[in-house]
Amino acid sequence: MTQTLFAGIEGGGTKFVCAVADENNHILAETRIPTTSPDQTLSGCAEFFQQQSSLGTIRSLGIACFGPLDPRPTSKGYGHILATPKPGWAGADVVGFFKQRLDLPIAFDTDVNGAVLAESLWGAGKGLKNLVYFTIGTGIGAGVIAEGNLVHGFLHPEMGHIMLARDPEQDPFPGICPFHGACFEGLASGPAIEKRWGLRGDQLPPKHPAWALEAHYIALALVSVTCALAPERIILGGGVMAQEQLLPMIRDKFALLLNGYMQTPLIAQHLESYIVLTGLEGKAGLYGAFALAHQALEAAQ
Ligand SMILES: [Zn+2]
Repeated sequence: MTQTLFAGIEGGGTKFVCAVADENNHILAETRIPTTSPDQTLSGCAEFFQQQSSLGTIRSLGIACFGPLDPRPTSKGYGHILATPKPGWAGADVVGFFKQRLDLPIAFDTDVNGAVLAESLWGAGKGLKNLVYFTIGTGIGAGVIAEGNLVHGFLHPEMGHIMLARDPEQDPFPGICPFHGACFEGLASGPAIEKRWGLRGDQLPPKHPAWALEAHYIALALVSVTCALAPERIILGGGVMAQEQLLPMIRDKFALLLNGYMQTPLIAQHLESYIVLTGLEGKAGLYGAFALAHQALEAAQ
C-alpha cells in the first residue's frame, strides 16, 4: 500500500521551502526555491512535487505564506497575495496556480496562522482551543486560534501593528514601521533593535538595557492581547526570542503591567506555562504548512 503523504510550502520573502511528509511529519523530500517572480518560483514548487510521485500518494497541499493575502475560500480574491512591495507578487494567484498544476485539495493561509495551527496540533499549544502565537524577528506577526478555529476576520489579524504606549523620555527612538512609526513591529522587531542601538540583537550582550526595553514592549503587547482575547496560552517564536534572557523578563513585566487584573490561576499561578517559547523551534513554518495540508484533506473528505 502506498503511504499517505502531505505536501507543504513555507512561502517566504527570500525562499519557498517545499517538503513532502508522511502523516507524522517525517519529511521524505525537501527543497528550497528562491523567491523570484511568482511564475518561476511557483513553477519550481509544482515541479518538485510532481517529481516525488515515487514516494507515495500526496493527498493535499498546505501553503503557509507571507502576507498580506486572502485566505477566505468564499471570497473572490481567495488564494491571492495582496498589496506587497515584493516585485511582481501583488495580486499573484497562488492557489489558482497550484489548482492548475496539481490535482489536490489546497489550504492557503498566512505563515503565522499556519504556525499557530501547528503549535495547537504538535507544539506548545497542544490540546488548547484558545491560543496566540507571535513571531518576533525581522517582522512581528501573530496567529490566533479562538474556540478551536483560526481567526481571520475580514482577512487576517495583523497584531504586529498594534499600537503601544511609548515614553519619549525613556525611549526617544520613533520606531521604524513605514505606516505607524511606533507600533509593536516598529519598536520591537529585530530591525528596530538594530536601528535603535546601532547593533544587531545578537551583538548586544544579555545585560544590555536593550533587553529590558524589548521585554517591556513585548509585555505591553501581550497584556493587550490577553485583555482582548483571553487566550489560554501565548507562544513566542522568531529570531529575537532566541535571546534566552528575554522570556523571564517578559513574564516579570507582564505580571507587573497586568497588576493583578484578570485573576485566573493560568496567569496568577502558572505564568511560566502561560507565556512560553515555541514547541516547534525552527520548524513552525513548514509544520504550519503541513497543518494546513491536514486541514485541506479533512475539509475535502
Ligand atoms: Zn506598524
